[in-house]
Amino acid sequence: MRFKHPEPAGSSPPIYPVFLPFAGCRERCVFCSQEAQTGRSSLPDADLPAFLQKSLAALIGRSRPQPFELAYYGGTFTALPPAVRDFLLQRAAELKAAGKICSLRCSTRPDAVTPPLLLELKERGLDTVELGVQSFCDQPLARSRRNYSGDTAARACRMVKEAGLRLGVQLMPGMPGMSEENFKRDAAIAADIKPDFMRLYPCLVLGGTPLAELWRSGAFTPWSLEAVLRTLPPALLLFWERGIRVIRLGLAPQAGLRENILAGPEHPALGQRLRSLALYRLVRLNMEQAGLPEGSARRFRVPRRFQGEFYGHGGELKATWAELGLGPANVEWSDQEYFEFV
Ligand code: SF4
Repeated sequence: MRFKHPEPAGSSPPIYPVFLPFAGCRERCVFCSQEAQTGRSSLPDADLPAFLQKSLAALIGRSRPQPFELAYYGGTFTALPPAVRDFLLQRAAELKAAGKICSLRCSTRPDAVTPPLLLELKERGLDTVELGVQSFCDQPLARSRRNYSGDTAARACRMVKEAGLRLGVQLMPGMPGMSEENFKRDAAIAADIKPDFMRLYPCLVLGGTPLAELWRSGAFTPWSLEAVLRTLPPALLLFWERGIRVIRLGLAPQAGLRENILAGPEHPALGQRLRSLALYRLVRLNMEQAGLPEGSARRFRVPRRFQGEFYGHGGELKATWAELGLGPANVEWSDQEYFEFV
């Protein structure tokens, strides 16, 4: 019996961000700390164009092995004052024309996009929009003061695709008011929308955020690491099976981030642990579908590229695999593209 790993192949140019902390944000979402995530808490009020020009120059000035994708992150790009947005689009267009960057993306909120605006941005050189959807369920959105509904989030995703832009969807399992069932629903809706890629950021309590106060007062309890390890692997498999790449699991390890995490499901090898669990689930499901009883495999061939994640972080899944009758005695690494029970 043979099967392939469903993760879609594909690579993207390297992404280099210019952070615009809280720029364009009407209010502050309870979990958001741009300081912890980007190292800056705001853009300077005075001489903003000079500051942005300097940030871009620093980014472009460093030698890069290949053209890269420029990203305007950290705020609500589509709600920036028009003069600032124009300035940033113009600079990006010049860099694209000069061959310094190959593409441009921004992050924004679902309630800050309209079809005419998206079309205009596409005409002016934007290629990709990352929507900080966080959830498609009304209750967690309200509890996190996002101030839009799940329907608005789904509509915004469709708008981005209909404008001919690439779509990235960010979800936040474990945000205030979210149950594991909510997240399953979020994953199913996202999979149906079929964005070009996903990012999954389990909700953490970061210092200096309104969420930190809620956590201190006992009004918010983050998901446990176990809940994340239980809930995300099936979602990963679902996305991969629909041809959707998951390009981020957990917050990017910016300098100073770890010291700012007060509570929540954080682990330095979270991505690897989730991928290993998804792989285990994939194998188990294939065994069940093929009617292969536990302990019946004489040999199991695993594509070599999964060698690093098969037994899990620090071998934590060895005992779990052993329950299926799989382990060093009968698992072998192969140069085939598919998994094979012999
Ligand atoms: S999560 Fe996004 S929209 Fe909310 S405050 Fe942070 S940058 Fe602004």
